[in-house]
Amino acid sequence: MLRFAPSPTGDMHIGNLRVAIFNYIVSKQRGENLIIRIEDTDKERNIQGKDKEILAILDLFGIEYSQVIYQSENFRFHSAMALQLLLELKAFNCFCSSDWLDKKREEAKESKTAYRYDDACASLPDELVIDNESPFTVRIRKPHEAIVVKDHIKGEIRFEPNDIDSFIIMRQDKTPMYNFACAVDDMLSDVSLVIRGEDHVSNTPKQILIREALGYDKKIEYAHLPIILNDDGKKMSKRDDASSVKWLLEEGFLPSAIANYLILIGDKTPKEIFTIKEALEWFSLENISKSPARFDINMLKHVNREHLKMLDAKELSRYVGFADEEIGEVAKIYLEESNTTKELKAKIASIFAKKDIPDEFKEYAQTIVKIIKDAPYFEEYEGFKNYIMNESGLKGRNLFKPLRILLTGAEHGPDIAAVYKYIKNYLGEIVK
Ligand code: GLU
Repeated sequence: MLRFAPSPTGDMHIGNLRVAIFNYIVSKQRGENLIIRIEDTDKERNIQGKDKEILAILDLFGIEYSQVIYQSENFRFHSAMALQLLLELKAFNCFCSSDWLDKKREEAKESKTAYRYDDACASLPDELVIDNESPFTVRIRKPHEAIVVKDHIKGEIRFEPNDIDSFIIMRQDKTPMYNFACAVDDMLSDVSLVIRGEDHVSNTPKQILIREALGYDKKIEYAHLPIILNDDGKKMSKRDDASSVKWLLEEGFLPSAIANYLILIGDKTPKEIFTIKEALEWFSLENISKSPARFDINMLKHVNREHLKMLDAKELSRYVGFADEEIGEVAKIYLEESNTTKELKAKIASIFAKKDIPDEFKEYAQTIVKIIKDAPYFEEYEGFKNYIMNESGLKGRNLFKPLRILLTGAEHGPDIAAVYKYIKNYLGEIVK
C-alpha cells in the first residue's frame, strides 16, 4: 500500500503534486493500491473545502486511488495506542507547562545549543502522576540506539539518540501530534513505501521509533524527494505564483504537461516529452537526483507547447472555449506563437472581437469590410485576396495591414492564407 497524505491547509503546491504523481506511478508499477489520507488533525489550520479541491486536482491529473481516509476518523486508534504505550511505560505523562517549556527553549537558544526536552517528567513517582489534576501531554521515551533510515533517494541516514528527544505524541487536549497520527496510520493502512518531501526527513526516525514501541516490526521503505527551487535558488514558496497548481492550471498549462515537467526535473528520463502512462514503463526513484530540482517556467512552457501539439483539433478547440474542429485547426496554427491555452484563447478571441484599426488604415478597412460583406464565397485565400484587390483598387500595405487586422485582430501573426482556410466560413462573424 502506498499513500499520499496532503494537509487541507492551503493550495496544492507543485511539490505536493510531484509527491502524489510519484506515489501513483510507483503504486502502479508495484501493483499496489494508493490511498489518499487527508491529514486534518490540526483543526486550527484546516481550511474548509481544501480536501475536495485536492481530490479534484488529483482527478484532473488522472491519479487514481483506491480510498480516501480522513486522519481525524482514526482518533480512537491514536488514543488507544497512546494508552498502550503509557501502560507499557514506553510513554509518560508530562505536566510541564508550555510557558516553562518555552523558557527552556529560549535558554537553549541563548546558549546556542539545540533544544532537547530534559526528561523532567520521565520518571515521576506514581503518586505524582495518579490523581494529578494538572493538564498533561503524553511523551514517548527517547531511543537508546541510533535509528538508521534507508532512503531510496538519499541513501542511508543515521539519527543518533541525541537527535531525538522524548517528544510529545498527544497534546493536552488529547488529540494526536502529527508524528504520532502519521506513524500509527501508516501502520494501520499497512503502508509499504512512503514517498514524501524531504522536509519530513527529520520526522522519519520519530515515526519509526513510535511503531517500534508499538511492537510493529514491518519495515516501511522511504523515499524523500528533494525540494524544488525557484529562479533565485530559494525554496519555491507560496510567494512564487508558479508553486500553486491552481495558478498553473489557470495560466493555461495542461495537466499532462505539468505532470511531464514534474517528472522530468531532477530525474534521468529517456526522453523529454512523455505522458504519465509512458513514465510507468521506466520511472525509478533511484534515478531522482539527491540535489534540489530547479523550477524553470520557460522549460514548462516548452513542454506545455509540445503537449498542446499532441491534441487533435477538436480537443484543442475545447481548451480555447469552442467546440468546433475548424477553430481547433486555427488554434493549431497559432501554436507557432503560443505556449499556453490562455494565450491561445486570447488569440482566437481577438479574431472574433471588434477590431481596433489604426487611424491611417481606418478608411481602407471600411472599404474592405463593405467588399467582404458582398463578396462571393472563395475556397482559397488567393481568390479572396485578388477579389478584394480588384474591387477596392488597394494594394501593398494599404490592403494587407487592414485586411490582416480585420481577419485576425492583430497586425502580425501566422500565414494568413493558412488561417483563412479555417475561418472562411465564419467571415460574417469575424468581419463586422
Ligand atoms: N501532511 C504532510 C504534508 O502535507 C505529509 C506527511 C507525510 O507524507 O507523511 O506535508
